[in-house]
Amino acid sequence: MKEIRMSLKKGEFSEKEKDDIRTVVKFVGIYCRENHNGERTPFSFKLFDIKEIEKKEVFLCPDCTRLLTYGLTMRLKCPHDPKPMCKKCETQCYHGDYKSKIREVMKFSGMYMVKHGRVDMLYHYLR
Ligand SMILES: [Zn+2]
Repeated sequence: MKEIRMSLKKGEFSEKEKDDIRTVVKFVGIYCRENHNGERTPFSFKLFDIKEIEKKEVFLCPDCTRLLTYGLTMRLKCPHDPKPMCKKCETQCYHGDYKSKIREVMKFSGMYMVKHGRVDMLYHYLR
């Protein structure tokens, strides 16, 4: 998997971006907790403090850490403003392995939230 080059300003995000960040962090967090038994470490991201946005630490296995790092980086690099619905976007963020993985994560965690009554989170899932 390719390393992503960073060319982002640190610490300046809109509420919309924070909202999207929170969503993807939650989805990957649930998926990892429910599916992976390996060793998990607190997720950290060099562009911002995850605790500031999510209000708590998020523990992920190495694979999910890679996926989330990729997802967040791509979200913050989105060249569109306002960001279109991902489905309709001409600049697809996720490719190859990442694409099938994030789909699986969204599907699993989406269902998990329905079962646990977190329908409010689905607003994000369905966008
Ligand atoms: Zn995991």
